[in-house]
Amino acid sequence: MDDSFTLYNLKVQVVGTDKPMVCGHKEGDYFLVTGEDIVFPENNSFSLYALSAILPLLPAKQRVLQANDWMLSDSLIACPDPNCGAVFKITRIGTKAFSHAECTIEPLHKGDGQ
Ligand SMILES: [Zn+2]
Repeated sequence: MDDSFTLYNLKVQVVGTDKPMVCGHKEGDYFLVTGEDIVFPENNSFSLYALSAILPLLPAKQRVLQANDWMLSDSLIACPDPNCGAVFKITRIGTKAFSHAECTIEPLHKGDGQ
């Protein structure tokens, strides 16, 4: 039985605005998300406060969404510091297939998807 499913891989990148960045962000800094893994480039740091604002959105952005869902259209996340002009852009950069059995010991859900 096929138990595969597909998730989008993500790139989260620092984007500047016309307002100065007061945290340690550097425009162009980024991290990648593949499945449950966050991958940081070797010479890159990322604010834990900014990361805490971004993290709740990542699992939704990895998944297929309804066309009218705001989560699909909105991809810029503001830095949680109200004095900081940085925003973080979430971009889908391809997909990766996973096996349900390799991700959980729970049985496949039977039913209408609810
Ligand atoms: Zn900031």
